[in-house]
Amino acid sequence: MGSFTAALESVATVNGPKCSVAVVRAEMSADDRVEFQTALDDPNIQHAAIERALLKLHDDGKLTSRVGQGSVARHRKRECACCRG
Ligand SMILES: [Zn+2]
Repeated sequence: MGSFTAALESVATVNGPKCSVAVVRAEMSADDRVEFQTALDDPNIQHAAIERALLKLHDDGKLTSRVGQGSVARHRKRECACCRG
């Protein structure tokens, strides 16, 4: 990800409506964010697997926010608060 996209995403996350997926993404390091996005874009990785991975990061203390059930699915289908179009 380039600097502009990163800046754009950080602004959108702070100012726009956001789902819990965006909240945890904002907590991640740049490297983790790239890996997270790669997983989100991979149709072979199930929503539930991503949610469990995020919960594990939460339980390990790496994330302070939790992702709710179904949030990953909605985010991937762009039906969540932070996705438009
Ligand atoms: Zn979202």
